[in-house]
Amino acid sequence: MRHSNLHTHTVFSDGYYTVEETVLAAIDNNMISLGISDHSSADFDPCGIRTRSIDAYHREVRRCAEKYKDRIEVYLGLELDGYSVVDKADYDYLIGDVHYVKCSDGNLHGIDWNKENQQKVIDDFFDHDPLAMAKHYFATYVERQQINRPDVLGHFDLVRLFGLMPTESKAYLDAATEALIACLKVTPIMEINMVPVVLRGDTEPYPRNNILKEAVAHGAKLVLSSDAHKVENLQKGFDDEILRLKALGIREIVQFVGGRFVEVGI
Ligand SMILES: [Zn+2]
Ligand SMILES: [Zn+2]
Repeated sequence: MRHSNLHTHTVFSDGYYTVEETVLAAIDNNMISLGISDHSSADFDPCGIRTRSIDAYHREVRRCAEKYKDRIEVYLGLELDGYSVVDKADYDYLIGDVHYVKCSDGNLHGIDWNKENQQKVIDDFFDHDPLAMAKHYFATYVERQQINRPDVLGHFDLVRLFGLMPTESKAYLDAATEALIACLKVTPIMEINMVPVVLRGDTEPYPRNNILKEAVAHGAKLVLSSDAHKVENLQKGFDDEILRLKALGIREIVQFVGGRFVEVGI
């Protein structure tokens, strides 16, 4: 099948390639559509698009969309951090994500910088209890999605990326599932994010299987995302992931085609 990918980063935020290089790579990959979704601007987030570059980001994505419209559909998106603020109307779609949680010192703390930093957040603000941090992360995830109302629920269980979370415990899964059910009322579209598989050698993407099963049982529609920061990874692992989803009994995903999300059989 021809793939679509809405979660990509370019040099406007923390990606390695230009918008045009990313579009050309997507054409080379025979993708049906591509969304550029650089990180939202925020004074607390060093990964975000510089405020002064936002207009240039919009212009460049639109320019490439027009230039290559006969070969691929290109969309202007944004990976919106939960604590960033944007006007939804400026974008074709938003991917809602949480990379920061607000702690008892009143400040936002990054959860995905590195293992040592996440451990320090657990120790300093959650009394050395990773489950307490996971619960706070999932509560934050729900709150920010309800406020921002994005089109796609992004890397839902990002918090587990360093292996510090009790992902197999019932309490963790219960917290995740409760959050999931609340978020699916905001939007039923949830990404399968390939970063753990492609960059970390994990067997499961975000979300892990136990959460994915709950998501599907509660009506989630799945969209494949690479979260690629390099064009080499634009659709890396997608074919294998489709097979894995089929083996889990999933029969369709959604793709962003013709300016809207459409269901596609797999
Ligand atoms: Zn992210
Ligand atoms: Zn991303």
